[in-house]
Amino acid sequence: MRLRVPSMTYPDVRHTVELQGSQVRCTCPGFYFKHKCWHVGVIRELLEYRRMMRLQASALGGVVCS
Ligand SMILES: [Zn+2]
Repeated sequence: MRLRVPSMTYPDVRHTVELQGSQVRCTCPGFYFKHKCWHVGVIRELLEYRRMMRLQASALGGVVCS
């Protein structure tokens, strides 16, 4: 799973956050130097949101695709 997020500092720049299994990595300098950045939080929140949607849907007897 990949996510493109805009840079806070440079509006023209976009970073790519990539999720592989439980490993998250990002192409921004912050992640490169400190191994953490807010982009990683974005993808984690998105995943959590999708998980909640699935749970709610299955509770109602439905299925969420993708
Ligand atoms: Zn980042």
